[in-house]
Amino acid sequence: MDTTRGELFIVASPSGGGKTTLIRRVMQELEAQGRQAHFSVSHTTRPPRSVECDGVDYHFVDRPTFQRMAAAGEFLEFAEVHDNLYGTSRAEVEAKLERGCDVFLDIDVQGARQVRASVSDVVKVFIFPPSHAELHRRLVARRQDSEDAIALRIKNAVREMREYAEFDYVIINDCLEDATRALASVVAVARMRPFRLRSRVQAILEDFERAAKKEE
Ligand code: ADP
Ligand code: 5GP
Repeated sequence: MDTTRGELFIVASPSGGGKTTLIRRVMQELEAQGRQAHFSVSHTTRPPRSVECDGVDYHFVDRPTFQRMAAAGEFLEFAEVHDNLYGTSRAEVEAKLERGCDVFLDIDVQGARQVRASVSDVVKVFIFPPSHAELHRRLVARRQDSEDAIALRIKNAVREMREYAEFDYVIINDCLEDATRALASVVAVARMRPFRLRSRVQAILEDFERAAKKEE
């Protein structure tokens, strides 16, 4: 395992759970610490919301284009979510990880399952809203989805939340500051796994071995 590679994080939740908000806050912290972090921009067939920009929030494509890309194996994972197709570009993620950048995927539970099947060292985090009423309030306050779209998202939320045990960590996004700190802690802990520290640990072990030889 190359320890200079970036770390891959999946952050999943029902729509409105707070994935985008939390990822952006933690990425700012990482960048302030001099680490490179990247939010993977997915492809989708969903029409853009008024506040969204092509290439920033999503790559907005039509269904035939998406299906062509899927057939060509260009997606690390893809799924139909709330009646639209969404997919993660394999090339984009691989290039960033290779350059030592940490990469955050904001994807649904079906996509998370596909990534887990093909990437062994991915860290999977599930974000829970604190309650049904608060999720509804946040989706309405976000003012980006129609009433029908909100109803569909809330209807699908329970089905998605029941999958939480498949994840490594669960964060209940009640107080935003606490939830941000929790996600930042997960990112920090991920870098303490033995294979990530192999070269530094190896150097310390060699130092001890040299010292032991001198004492012989
Ligand atoms: P997702 O990316 O999971 O769909 P968002 O990050 O867009 O969710 O969050 C949905 C809405 O809830 C946004 O308007 C966001 O500002 C708000 N929000 C997120 N977390 C909190 C929180 N802990 N307290 C209050 N509002 C929140
Ligand atoms: P929204 O339309 O609200 O931006 O996203 C709807 C849902 O699609 C969210 O659960 C989000 O995580 C998921 N999603 C966004 N991009 C992807 C992706 O590339 N793959 C998968 N599987 N789900 C995605």
